[in-house]
Amino acid sequence: MSVIVCKFGGTSTADAEMFKRIHAIIKEDPRRRYAVLSAPGKINGGEKVTDLLYAAWRTRSPEAAVGRFEAIARELGVNMDFRTSIERALKRSEAETVSRGEYLCAKLFSKWSGIPFADAAELIFFDEGGKIDRDRTLRAIREMSKRLERAVIPGFYGSGPGGEIVTFPRNGSDITGALLAAGVGASLYENWTDVPGLMTGDPAADPGAKLIDAIRCDELRRMPGNPRVLHPDSLDAVQAAGIPTRIRCTMTPELPGTLVY
Ligand code: ASP
Repeated sequence: MSVIVCKFGGTSTADAEMFKRIHAIIKEDPRRRYAVLSAPGKINGGEKVTDLLYAAWRTRSPEAAVGRFEAIARELGVNMDFRTSIERALKRSEAETVSRGEYLCAKLFSKWSGIPFADAAELIFFDEGGKIDRDRTLRAIREMSKRLERAVIPGFYGSGPGGEIVTFPRNGSDITGALLAAGVGASLYENWTDVPGLMTGDPAADPGAKLIDAIRCDELRRMPGNPRVLHPDSLDAVQAAGIPTRIRCTMTPELPGTLVY
């Protein structure tokens, strides 16, 4: 059976209701075997968990980030310790601290859904120059897929040459998802986000802007403004492997979204 890797952005993991929504999406299609999650995004005008963690690193206080996770866990009826892992990371590095947003989100989703957890620290590898070590990364992902038929994987980070946590640029979970898709040999990379797809223009400024059904990678690279929807670096990994990406909206899963090929 062909495999779909799906990546869910921060608005798709922002609260317990969204957790249920993305679980329903995963269950709906048995080909959706690997899910990459971002840290919970903004809710009720508050901050993204990643921003709370950057603040935690500066202020040495994990309270706000811990509170966000505890609220989601409470609603899901899951008992889990979030504080220890963030406090441990605070003793190590800023990168490890901010990576706990994705780590704990995927751990919580795994515990609640029963889908096994696979740590990005053992799958995504950076070289001395901070670039992705592609061969090692794809090999590790392939091995993982032989071991685990399904998995939930945190986005945004991996390991450096000394085993230390290294993060991608902001919104980098898109890149994790693309590498996962390449490593498992997926037939499709689904990038679930909070917009119905790519538009021909900014709908706020251009009322005539239309949804794009399909677009080539090279055309997308030339379009201004689209990095917000899909991180441009994620295109490298899927394009090299010949895997199409479909941008889809978690709030309107009945819509086909935009195909990037
Ligand atoms: N959580 C990280 C960020 O806010 C990465 C991501 O969401 O892709 O940038």
